[in-house]
Amino acid sequence: MPKTTARARAYKTLDLHGLDALLHALVEQNYRLIGPCVREGVIVYDDIAGVDDLPAGAFDEQDTATYRLIKTDKPSLFGYTISPQSWKRYLFPPEVKLWQADRTGSSITIGTNSDDPGERTKPFAFIGVRPCEVRAIAIQDRVFINQTYADPVYKSRREDAFILAVNCTRPGKTCFCASMDAGPQVTDGCDLALTEVLDEDRHYFVVEVHSDRGAAIMEGIPQRNTSAEEQKNASGLLHAAAQNMGRAVKTKGLRDLLNHSHDHPQWDSVASRCLSCANCTMVCPTCFCSTVEDVTDLSGDHAERWRKWDSCFMLDSSYIFGGSVRATSKSRYRQWLTHKMATWNDQFDSMGCVGCGRCIAWCPAGIDITAEIRAIQESEPADATRKK
Ligand code: SF4
Ligand code: SF4
Repeated sequence: MPKTTARARAYKTLDLHGLDALLHALVEQNYRLIGPCVREGVIVYDDIAGVDDLPAGAFDEQDTATYRLIKTDKPSLFGYTISPQSWKRYLFPPEVKLWQADRTGSSITIGTNSDDPGERTKPFAFIGVRPCEVRAIAIQDRVFINQTYADPVYKSRREDAFILAVNCTRPGKTCFCASMDAGPQVTDGCDLALTEVLDEDRHYFVVEVHSDRGAAIMEGIPQRNTSAEEQKNASGLLHAAAQNMGRAVKTKGLRDLLNHSHDHPQWDSVASRCLSCANCTMVCPTCFCSTVEDVTDLSGDHAERWRKWDSCFMLDSSYIFGGSVRATSKSRYRQWLTHKMATWNDQFDSMGCVGCGRCIAWCPAGIDITAEIRAIQESEPADATRKK
Protein backbone atom coordinates (compact mmCIF):
# COMPACT_ATOMS: atom_id res chain seq x y z
CA MET A 1 0.00 0.00 0.00
CA PRO A 2 1.26 3.49 -0.78
CA LYS A 3 3.53 5.19 1.72
CA THR A 4 2.84 8.90 1.79
CA THR A 5 5.96 10.79 1.04
CA ALA A 6 7.38 13.04 3.72
CA ARG A 7 8.21 15.57 1.04
CA ALA A 8 5.68 18.21 0.08
CA ARG A 9 3.44 16.89 -2.64
CA ALA A 10 4.92 17.75 -6.02
CA TYR A 11 2.89 18.72 -9.08
CA LYS A 12 4.10 17.78 -12.55
CA THR A 13 2.53 18.12 -15.95
CA LEU A 14 2.47 15.35 -18.55
CA ASP A 15 1.30 15.43 -22.12
CA LEU A 16 -0.16 12.38 -23.85
CA HIS A 17 3.28 11.04 -24.64
CA GLY A 18 4.33 11.46 -21.01
CA LEU A 19 1.25 9.58 -19.78
CA ASP A 20 2.01 6.73 -22.17
CA ALA A 21 5.61 6.68 -20.89
CA LEU A 22 4.29 6.50 -17.34
CA LEU A 23 2.12 3.48 -18.16
CA HIS A 24 5.04 1.77 -19.89
CA ALA A 25 7.30 2.47 -16.91
CA LEU A 26 4.78 0.64 -14.74
CA VAL A 27 4.83 -2.32 -17.13
CA GLU A 28 8.63 -2.31 -17.08
CA GLN A 29 8.49 -2.48 -13.30
CA ASN A 30 6.51 -5.69 -13.68
CA TYR A 31 3.06 -4.32 -12.86
CA ARG A 32 -0.05 -5.74 -14.52
CA LEU A 33 -1.89 -2.69 -15.89
CA ILE A 34 -5.64 -2.67 -15.34
CA GLY A 35 -7.51 0.33 -16.68
CA PRO A 36 -10.72 1.55 -18.27
CA CYS A 37 -11.62 0.44 -21.78
CA VAL A 38 -14.79 0.04 -23.81
CA ARG A 39 -16.33 -3.42 -24.15
CA GLU A 40 -19.78 -4.02 -25.59
CA GLY A 41 -21.01 -0.49 -24.99
CA VAL A 42 -19.84 -0.01 -21.41
CA ILE A 43 -16.67 1.08 -19.65
CA VAL A 44 -15.05 -1.92 -17.99
CA TYR A 45 -11.78 -2.34 -16.14
CA ASP A 46 -9.51 -4.80 -17.92
CA ASP A 47 -5.90 -5.42 -18.91
CA ILE A 48 -4.48 -2.56 -20.95
CA ALA A 49 -1.11 -2.06 -22.63
CA GLY A 50 -0.95 1.74 -22.81
CA VAL A 51 -2.72 4.97 -23.64
CA ASP A 52 -4.12 3.59 -26.91
CA ASP A 53 -6.36 1.21 -24.97
CA LEU A 54 -7.96 3.98 -22.88
CA PRO A 55 -11.52 5.02 -23.83
CA ALA A 56 -10.78 8.20 -25.83
CA GLY A 57 -13.91 10.25 -26.41
CA ALA A 58 -16.21 7.93 -24.45
CA PHE A 59 -18.79 9.75 -22.34
CA ASP A 60 -21.37 8.04 -20.17
CA GLU A 61 -24.87 9.27 -19.40
CA GLN A 62 -26.11 7.87 -16.13
CA ASP A 63 -29.34 8.45 -14.25
CA THR A 64 -31.95 6.42 -12.39
CA ALA A 65 -31.92 2.92 -13.94
CA THR A 66 -30.06 4.39 -16.91
CA TYR A 67 -26.60 3.91 -18.40
CA ARG A 68 -25.63 4.85 -21.93
CA LEU A 69 -22.17 5.30 -23.43
CA ILE A 70 -21.77 7.80 -26.21
CA LYS A 71 -18.78 8.31 -28.47
CA THR A 72 -17.66 11.88 -28.96
CA ASP A 73 -14.85 13.36 -31.02
CA LYS A 74 -13.23 14.82 -27.90
CA PRO A 75 -9.81 13.29 -27.25
CA SER A 76 -10.29 13.05 -23.44
CA LEU A 77 -9.20 9.70 -22.04
CA PHE A 78 -11.06 9.97 -18.73
CA GLY A 79 -14.14 11.87 -19.88
CA TYR A 80 -16.52 9.17 -18.66
CA THR A 81 -17.72 9.44 -15.06
CA ILE A 82 -17.55 5.94 -13.65
CA SER A 83 -17.56 2.32 -14.76
CA PRO A 84 -20.40 0.00 -13.77
CA GLN A 85 -17.66 -2.25 -12.43
CA SER A 86 -15.64 -1.41 -9.38
CA TRP A 87 -12.07 -2.33 -8.52
CA LYS A 88 -13.31 -4.75 -5.88
CA ARG A 89 -13.55 -7.42 -8.60
CA TYR A 90 -9.73 -7.45 -8.64
CA LEU A 91 -9.09 -7.22 -4.91
CA PHE A 92 -12.08 -9.24 -3.72
CA PRO A 93 -12.84 -11.44 -6.75
CA PRO A 94 -16.44 -12.55 -7.40
CA GLU A 95 -15.36 -16.20 -7.21
CA VAL A 96 -12.31 -17.81 -5.61
CA LYS A 97 -11.66 -21.51 -5.24
CA LEU A 98 -10.66 -21.99 -1.61
CA TRP A 99 -9.51 -25.59 -1.93
CA GLN A 100 -10.06 -28.79 -3.82
CA ALA A 101 -9.89 -32.45 -2.85
CA ASP A 102 -9.06 -35.41 -5.10
CA ARG A 103 -9.46 -39.06 -4.23
CA THR A 104 -7.12 -41.63 -5.75
CA GLY A 105 -7.79 -45.11 -4.45
CA SER A 106 -7.86 -44.80 -0.70
CA SER A 107 -5.87 -41.54 -0.50
CA ILE A 108 -7.19 -37.99 -0.65
CA THR A 109 -5.13 -35.01 -1.80
CA ILE A 110 -6.11 -31.50 -0.73
CA GLY A 111 -5.09 -28.74 -3.15
CA THR A 112 -4.31 -25.12 -2.39
CA ASN A 113 -6.63 -22.31 -3.34
CA SER A 114 -6.77 -21.01 -6.90
CA ASP A 115 -5.56 -17.60 -5.76
CA ASP A 116 -2.23 -18.75 -4.38
CA PRO A 117 -0.04 -15.61 -4.45
CA GLY A 118 2.78 -17.79 -5.75
CA GLU A 119 0.85 -18.25 -8.96
CA ARG A 120 0.44 -14.52 -9.50
CA THR A 121 3.81 -13.03 -10.27
CA LYS A 122 2.67 -9.48 -11.02
CA PRO A 123 1.15 -6.90 -8.71
CA PHE A 124 -1.69 -4.79 -10.07
CA ALA A 125 -1.36 -1.19 -11.25
CA PHE A 126 -4.87 0.27 -11.28
CA ILE A 127 -5.16 3.11 -13.80
CA GLY A 128 -7.92 5.72 -13.57
CA VAL A 129 -9.25 5.05 -10.06
CA ARG A 130 -11.82 7.74 -9.19
CA PRO A 131 -11.67 9.48 -5.81
CA CYS A 132 -14.82 7.71 -4.58
CA GLU A 133 -13.23 4.42 -5.61
CA VAL A 134 -10.00 5.20 -3.76
CA ARG A 135 -12.16 5.79 -0.69
CA ALA A 136 -14.06 2.55 -1.31
CA ILE A 137 -10.78 0.62 -1.42
CA ALA A 138 -9.77 2.21 1.89
CA ILE A 139 -13.09 1.07 3.36
CA GLN A 140 -12.57 -2.49 2.11
CA ASP A 141 -9.04 -2.40 3.57
CA ARG A 142 -10.64 -1.90 6.99
CA VAL A 143 -12.88 -4.91 6.40
CA PHE A 144 -10.34 -7.29 4.91
CA ILE A 145 -7.05 -6.16 6.45
CA ASN A 146 -7.58 -5.02 9.99
CA GLN A 147 -5.57 -5.37 13.14
CA THR A 148 -7.13 -8.68 14.10
CA TYR A 149 -7.82 -10.52 10.87
CA ALA A 150 -6.65 -10.38 7.28
CA ASP A 151 -8.22 -12.10 4.33
CA PRO A 152 -5.27 -13.75 2.52
CA VAL A 153 -6.76 -13.37 -0.96
CA TYR A 154 -7.50 -9.65 -0.54
CA LYS A 155 -4.26 -8.95 1.30
CA SER A 156 -2.02 -10.54 -1.30
CA ARG A 157 -3.75 -8.69 -4.14
CA ARG A 158 -3.89 -5.37 -2.30
CA GLU A 159 -0.46 -5.16 -0.70
CA ASP A 160 1.56 -4.24 -3.77
CA ALA A 161 -1.17 -2.64 -5.85
CA PHE A 162 -0.18 0.68 -7.41
CA ILE A 163 -3.01 3.22 -7.60
CA LEU A 164 -3.01 5.89 -10.25
CA ALA A 165 -6.09 7.95 -9.42
CA VAL A 166 -7.92 10.33 -11.76
CA ASN A 167 -9.72 13.27 -10.21
CA CYS A 168 -13.31 13.75 -11.33
CA THR A 169 -14.04 16.68 -13.59
CA ARG A 170 -17.38 15.46 -14.90
CA PRO A 171 -19.67 14.15 -12.14
CA GLY A 172 -22.72 12.24 -13.38
CA LYS A 173 -26.37 12.73 -12.53
CA THR A 174 -26.20 9.89 -9.99
CA CYS A 175 -23.03 11.09 -8.22
CA PHE A 176 -23.00 12.38 -4.64
CA CYS A 177 -19.39 11.80 -3.57
CA ALA A 178 -19.12 15.42 -2.36
CA SER A 179 -21.84 14.70 0.23
CA MET A 180 -19.93 11.65 1.42
CA ASP A 181 -16.64 13.57 1.57
CA ALA A 182 -15.19 11.11 -0.98
CA GLY A 183 -14.59 13.34 -4.02
CA PRO A 184 -14.32 14.84 -6.53
CA GLN A 185 -10.62 15.20 -5.60
CA VAL A 186 -8.38 12.48 -4.19
CA THR A 187 -6.84 13.48 -0.88
CA ASP A 188 -4.97 10.31 0.06
CA GLY A 189 -4.78 6.55 -0.52
CA CYS A 190 -3.12 6.59 -3.94
CA ASP A 191 0.36 6.81 -5.46
CA LEU A 192 -0.33 9.40 -8.13
CA ALA A 193 -3.40 11.53 -8.87
CA LEU A 194 -4.03 12.99 -12.33
CA THR A 195 -6.32 15.77 -13.37
CA GLU A 196 -7.02 15.69 -17.10
CA VAL A 197 -7.28 19.16 -18.64
CA LEU A 198 -8.60 19.67 -22.14
CA ASP A 199 -8.90 23.24 -23.31
CA GLU A 200 -9.29 24.72 -26.76
CA ASP A 201 -5.86 23.76 -28.02
CA ARG A 202 -4.14 21.86 -25.21
CA HIS A 203 -4.52 18.43 -23.67
CA TYR A 204 -2.46 17.71 -20.58
CA PHE A 205 -2.47 15.98 -17.21
CA VAL A 206 -1.57 17.64 -13.93
CA VAL A 207 -0.07 14.93 -11.72
CA GLU A 208 0.04 15.16 -7.95
CA VAL A 209 2.63 12.83 -6.42
CA HIS A 210 1.23 11.15 -3.31
CA SER A 211 3.76 8.47 -2.40
CA ASP A 212 7.44 7.67 -2.57
CA ARG A 213 6.60 4.87 -4.97
CA GLY A 214 4.72 7.37 -7.14
CA ALA A 215 7.68 9.76 -7.05
CA ALA A 216 10.06 6.96 -8.06
CA ILE A 217 7.98 5.94 -11.07
CA MET A 218 7.81 9.56 -12.25
CA GLU A 219 11.57 9.76 -12.49
CA GLY A 220 12.65 9.46 -16.11
CA ILE A 221 9.18 10.27 -17.47
CA PRO A 222 8.98 13.25 -19.89
CA GLN A 223 7.40 15.97 -17.75
CA ARG A 224 7.59 19.60 -16.75
CA ASN A 225 6.90 21.55 -13.61
CA THR A 226 3.24 22.52 -13.45
CA SER A 227 2.73 26.20 -14.17
CA ALA A 228 0.51 28.38 -11.99
CA GLU A 229 -1.96 28.62 -14.84
CA GLU A 230 -2.14 24.85 -15.30
CA GLN A 231 -2.62 24.38 -11.57
CA LYS A 232 -5.39 26.98 -11.60
CA ASN A 233 -7.11 25.30 -14.55
CA ALA A 234 -7.05 21.90 -12.83
CA SER A 235 -8.31 23.35 -9.53
CA GLY A 236 -11.08 25.21 -11.37
CA LEU A 237 -12.32 21.96 -12.93
CA LEU A 238 -12.41 20.24 -9.55
CA HIS A 239 -14.19 23.15 -7.91
CA ALA A 240 -16.81 23.13 -10.68
CA ALA A 241 -17.22 19.35 -10.32
CA ALA A 242 -17.93 19.72 -6.60
CA GLN A 243 -20.66 22.25 -7.42
CA ASN A 244 -22.20 20.08 -10.13
CA MET A 245 -22.93 16.82 -8.32
CA GLY A 246 -26.05 15.20 -9.73
CA ARG A 247 -27.35 14.30 -6.30
CA ALA A 248 -26.79 15.18 -2.64
CA VAL A 249 -27.35 13.59 0.74
CA LYS A 250 -27.57 15.44 4.04
CA THR A 251 -25.44 13.30 6.33
CA LYS A 252 -25.77 15.41 9.47
CA GLY A 253 -27.78 13.44 12.03
CA LEU A 254 -28.41 10.64 9.51
CA ARG A 255 -26.90 7.92 11.65
CA ASP A 256 -29.18 8.64 14.61
CA LEU A 257 -32.21 9.17 12.40
CA LEU A 258 -31.83 5.79 10.70
CA ASN A 259 -31.08 4.01 13.94
CA HIS A 260 -34.41 5.33 15.23
CA SER A 261 -36.41 4.67 12.05
CA HIS A 262 -36.82 0.92 12.29
CA ASP A 263 -40.60 1.13 11.80
CA HIS A 264 -40.76 4.03 9.38
CA PRO A 265 -43.47 3.57 6.68
CA GLN A 266 -40.93 4.39 3.94
CA TRP A 267 -39.56 0.86 4.29
CA ASP A 268 -42.95 -0.48 3.16
CA SER A 269 -42.91 1.90 0.23
CA VAL A 270 -39.48 0.79 -0.96
CA ALA A 271 -40.32 -2.88 -0.34
CA SER A 272 -43.28 -2.62 -2.71
CA ARG A 273 -40.80 -1.73 -5.49
CA CYS A 274 -37.66 -3.66 -4.55
CA LEU A 275 -37.16 -6.93 -6.45
CA SER A 276 -34.49 -8.26 -4.05
CA CYS A 277 -32.36 -8.83 -7.14
CA ALA A 278 -29.13 -7.76 -5.32
CA ASN A 279 -27.89 -5.63 -8.23
CA CYS A 280 -27.25 -2.71 -5.87
CA THR A 281 -24.89 -4.79 -3.74
CA MET A 282 -23.10 -6.40 -6.69
CA VAL A 283 -22.19 -3.02 -8.19
CA CYS A 284 -21.40 -1.38 -4.84
CA PRO A 285 -17.64 -0.91 -4.35
CA THR A 286 -17.86 -1.24 -0.57
CA CYS A 287 -20.15 -4.28 -0.14
CA PHE A 288 -18.12 -7.23 1.07
CA CYS A 289 -20.41 -10.18 1.86
CA SER A 290 -19.53 -13.64 0.62
CA THR A 291 -20.76 -17.20 0.94
CA VAL A 292 -19.15 -20.58 0.31
CA GLU A 293 -20.36 -23.28 -2.02
CA ASP A 294 -19.18 -26.88 -2.30
CA VAL A 295 -19.27 -28.66 -5.64
CA THR A 296 -18.41 -32.22 -6.66
CA ASP A 297 -18.13 -33.91 -10.01
CA LEU A 298 -20.21 -36.92 -11.01
CA SER A 299 -17.41 -39.39 -10.24
CA GLY A 300 -17.41 -38.42 -6.59
CA ASP A 301 -13.60 -38.33 -6.71
CA HIS A 302 -13.24 -34.55 -6.98
CA ALA A 303 -14.66 -31.82 -4.76
CA GLU A 304 -14.12 -28.06 -4.59
CA ARG A 305 -15.04 -25.28 -2.19
CA TRP A 306 -15.62 -21.85 -3.72
CA ARG A 307 -16.06 -18.45 -2.13
CA LYS A 308 -18.56 -16.27 -4.00
CA TRP A 309 -19.99 -12.80 -3.58
CA ASP A 310 -23.20 -12.80 -1.56
CA SER A 311 -25.72 -10.10 -0.75
CA CYS A 312 -27.89 -9.13 2.20
CA PHE A 313 -30.77 -9.06 -0.32
CA MET A 314 -30.58 -12.87 -0.64
CA LEU A 315 -32.87 -14.88 1.62
CA ASP A 316 -30.09 -17.36 2.35
CA SER A 317 -27.76 -14.61 3.55
CA SER A 318 -29.49 -14.30 6.91
CA TYR A 319 -30.49 -17.95 7.20
CA ILE A 320 -29.83 -19.49 10.57
CA PHE A 321 -31.29 -22.69 11.93
CA GLY A 322 -35.03 -22.69 11.28
CA GLY A 323 -35.32 -19.80 8.83
CA SER A 324 -34.14 -16.46 7.58
CA VAL A 325 -33.75 -13.60 10.04
CA ARG A 326 -34.67 -11.09 7.31
CA ALA A 327 -37.52 -12.81 5.55
CA THR A 328 -39.01 -9.79 3.76
CA SER A 329 -37.77 -7.32 1.14
CA LYS A 330 -38.63 -4.58 3.61
CA SER A 331 -36.25 -5.95 6.24
CA ARG A 332 -33.52 -6.60 3.69
CA TYR A 333 -33.60 -3.13 2.13
CA ARG A 334 -33.75 -1.57 5.61
CA GLN A 335 -30.75 -3.64 6.67
CA TRP A 336 -28.76 -2.59 3.60
CA LEU A 337 -29.45 1.14 3.79
CA THR A 338 -29.15 1.34 7.57
CA HIS A 339 -25.87 -0.56 7.50
CA LYS A 340 -24.40 1.69 4.79
CA MET A 341 -25.42 4.96 6.35
CA ALA A 342 -25.57 4.28 10.11
CA THR A 343 -24.32 1.08 11.72
CA TRP A 344 -21.24 0.91 9.47
CA ASN A 345 -19.96 3.79 11.59
CA ASP A 346 -20.07 1.59 14.68
CA GLN A 347 -18.10 -1.16 12.91
CA PHE A 348 -15.63 0.81 10.85
CA ASP A 349 -15.76 4.47 11.97
CA SER A 350 -17.03 5.71 8.62
CA MET A 351 -20.04 5.59 6.37
CA GLY A 352 -20.23 2.52 4.13
CA CYS A 353 -21.20 4.59 1.12
CA VAL A 354 -18.90 6.73 -1.01
CA GLY A 355 -21.58 8.30 -3.21
CA CYS A 356 -20.54 6.62 -6.47
CA GLY A 357 -24.18 6.34 -7.57
CA ARG A 358 -23.84 2.87 -9.12
CA CYS A 359 -26.72 1.43 -7.11
CA ILE A 360 -28.98 4.17 -8.54
CA ALA A 361 -28.03 3.57 -12.17
CA TRP A 362 -28.17 -0.23 -11.93
CA CYS A 363 -31.32 -0.79 -9.88
CA PRO A 364 -33.83 -2.21 -12.38
CA ALA A 365 -36.69 -0.89 -10.24
CA GLY A 366 -35.38 2.68 -10.29
CA ILE A 367 -34.83 2.81 -6.54
CA ASP A 368 -32.59 5.70 -5.55
CA ILE A 369 -30.79 5.51 -2.20
CA THR A 370 -30.65 9.32 -1.99
CA ALA A 371 -34.42 9.62 -2.51
CA GLU A 372 -35.13 6.96 0.11
CA ILE A 373 -32.96 8.79 2.64
CA ARG A 374 -34.60 12.11 1.80
CA ALA A 375 -38.08 10.63 2.20
CA ILE A 376 -37.21 9.57 5.74
CA GLN A 377 -35.49 12.85 6.55
CA GLU A 378 -38.38 14.94 5.28
CA SER A 379 -41.11 13.02 7.09
CA GLU A 380 -42.54 14.47 10.26
CA PRO A 381 -40.03 14.16 13.09
CA ALA A 382 -42.89 13.37 15.41
CA ASP A 383 -44.08 10.53 13.20
CA ALA A 384 -45.90 8.24 15.57
CA THR A 385 -44.67 5.16 13.73
CA ARG A 386 -41.06 5.94 14.54
CA LYS A 387 -39.73 4.33 17.67
CA LYS A 388 -37.59 6.47 19.90
S1 SF4 B 1 -24.42 2.42 -1.67
FE1 SF4 B 1 -24.66 2.99 -3.85
S2 SF4 B 1 -23.78 5.05 -3.99
FE2 SF4 B 1 -23.09 4.18 -2.04
S3 SF4 B 1 -21.07 3.25 -2.50
FE3 SF4 B 1 -22.63 1.62 -2.76
S4 SF4 B 1 -23.19 1.69 -4.93
FE4 SF4 B 1 -22.09 3.60 -4.48
S1 SF4 C 1 -32.87 -1.87 -4.40
FE1 SF4 C 1 -32.99 -2.25 -6.65
S2 SF4 C 1 -31.05 -3.24 -7.16
FE2 SF4 C 1 -31.27 -3.39 -4.94
S3 SF4 C 1 -32.25 -5.38 -4.60
FE3 SF4 C 1 -33.92 -3.86 -4.72
S4 SF4 C 1 -34.54 -3.85 -6.90
FE4 SF4 C 1 -32.53 -4.89 -6.81
